[in-house]
Amino acid sequence: MADIISLLPDHVANQIAAGEVIQRPASVVKELLENAIDAQATEIQLLINGAGKTMIQVIDNGIGMSTTDIRLAFERHATSKIKSADDLFSITSKGFRGEALASIAAIAQVEIHSKTAEDEMASCLRISGSNFEDQEVSVAPKGTSIAVKNLFYNVPARRNFLKSDKVELRHIIYEFHRVGLTHPEVKFIFLQNGSELFDLPSGTHRKRIANIFGNKIEEKLIPLEEMTSVAGIEGFVVKPEFAKKSRGQQFFFVNKRFIKSPFLHHAVSSAFQGLLRDQYHPGYFIYIQIDPKTIDINIHPTKTEIKFEEEQNLYAIIKSMVKHSLGMFQVAPVLDFDRDSNLDTPYDLQQKIPSNVPSVEVDSSFNPFQNSDKNIPKAPKSSWESLYSELDIPNDPSTKNKELKLAIEQTPKVFQLLRKFIVTTTRSGLLIIDQQRAHQRVLYEKFLTSITKRNMLSQQLMFPKEIELSQQQIALFGELEANLNAMGFVVKQQDNKLCITGIPAICNDKQLGKLFEDILSTHESNEQVESFSQGDYMAKILSKSLSIKGNTTLSIEEQQALIDDFFACKDTLTCPFNRKIFITLEKEELEKKLN
Ligand code: ADP
Ligand code: MG
Repeated sequence: MADIISLLPDHVANQIAAGEVIQRPASVVKELLENAIDAQATEIQLLINGAGKTMIQVIDNGIGMSTTDIRLAFERHATSKIKSADDLFSITSKGFRGEALASIAAIAQVEIHSKTAEDEMASCLRISGSNFEDQEVSVAPKGTSIAVKNLFYNVPARRNFLKSDKVELRHIIYEFHRVGLTHPEVKFIFLQNGSELFDLPSGTHRKRIANIFGNKIEEKLIPLEEMTSVAGIEGFVVKPEFAKKSRGQQFFFVNKRFIKSPFLHHAVSSAFQGLLRDQYHPGYFIYIQIDPKTIDINIHPTKTEIKFEEEQNLYAIIKSMVKHSLGMFQVAPVLDFDRDSNLDTPYDLQQKIPSNVPSVEVDSSFNPFQNSDKNIPKAPKSSWESLYSELDIPNDPSTKNKELKLAIEQTPKVFQLLRKFIVTTTRSGLLIIDQQRAHQRVLYEKFLTSITKRNMLSQQLMFPKEIELSQQQIALFGELEANLNAMGFVVKQQDNKLCITGIPAICNDKQLGKLFEDILSTHESNEQVESFSQGDYMAKILSKSLSIKGNTTLSIEEQQALIDDFFACKDTLTCPFNRKIFITLEKEELEKKLN
């Protein structure tokens, strides 16, 4: 057989290698920002056009590069950051593999200007698809400016693989957050298509978090601090009552590098156990300083996963310090009328049915609201009635033997279990319905019907509502704006505020702020929601955001109404997210179990 093995040409090898480091515009952003930080810049500008597909430019005021260095920088494995393998165990820089610039130049058109403090003139170099084009002397201030154009122009398969501009921009923002949060001492400016997305002055970690996520987050942060022989750890956790449904506020940094660690994440989550509602995630910003000898950063090309020698100890330390801080700062909740009263006790405890039903000594026949209106608060129930505390018992003073009537005629056909399920009887047994999923199904079908019939009715708000958003939320809103309008929301964005003047008739106008947060975070965490159309996607998102949640007490009318609506649905088997909605317990099963 003839010889068949040959060496790949450099530019092909480079393209393949580039794939490991550069997956999308956001990867370029990460590498360039990190290079600027490694070059000791104190001010960094990020300019993005066309979500980074057209152009990504990073301008820094760092140490710059000499004429020879600028040429060498684009060779694979060319780095000024380590000299030998031993250095791998004392890394303090972001980069060290010498791959980023070579990778970027293999799959884009690059123009770089750089000047050191000693040199009089700057050097400019152009390189595209690994081909050196020209190098000349140029005029530029000290530092480096690098522009990366038409990413993947020569690898159409990868270019086609990129997501929509909105999604790519969101990834860029994530990377920007990570670098920005790691280096609050550095000033950052981020412009997208010429308009400013972020202007982050240099400051403390706390200020930086506030500048990125909005000032309101500052008062929600609980500080952490602990010096141990294993590591120095500081940072913040977000108060549990402000936990989010998305995981957008979970950050670990090790030696000034953002990392992902499911293991350490678990340590934090377990410290939050019992304090968060279903589907809510803790927020945290944890900065770990650790001897570089005890970690290995070099296990992944993007350097976001690392190995710790003292993993178990670190886990224990983080868990206990988070618990400690949550305990210490979880004093009486501040007066906040929007606060969810469900948060007064840890959820784990709430799920349990108290063994002693507390008795309340009141006259149950006293009713100051004779013409009882549904919305008027009810008189407190007597102790035995509180056994049925989930039930809304009509107060009828004309009934002489009220208690008897209750026991016989009003025996509930429907009741709520654990504030999460609605239980009802059928001819052959019991039906146990997940209230949240059933409600999602009802809302989803309602939304779908009105979208199909194009009759999204909008109700005008008497008092327009203003909501302040973070930059990240504004980006998310931008992605949904057209769809939200089509669904009956009348919303205008002005700077970092939304002004809502109309909402779909199905919604109520209470807690609009929370509803929008929910919609945006559901959207953020649901890139994967499978939908065959925009309308379907919106119906899913809204049904999720508007549905009754677990841990919500429903009146008997509400339970009955939900059941009626639910059984009028076209599909009653699964919720819009393909989960089972109810189970049945049949007579035979009961008999078998009792055998
Ligand atoms: P690494 O960062 O792993 O060393 P890169 O390919 O990202 O590899 O960069 C190669 C080299 O180019 C760096 O080691 C550094 O010396 C130089 N360099 C890159 N970007 C800059 C910059 N913005 N300012 C000064 N030097 C830079
Ligand atoms: Mg680098």
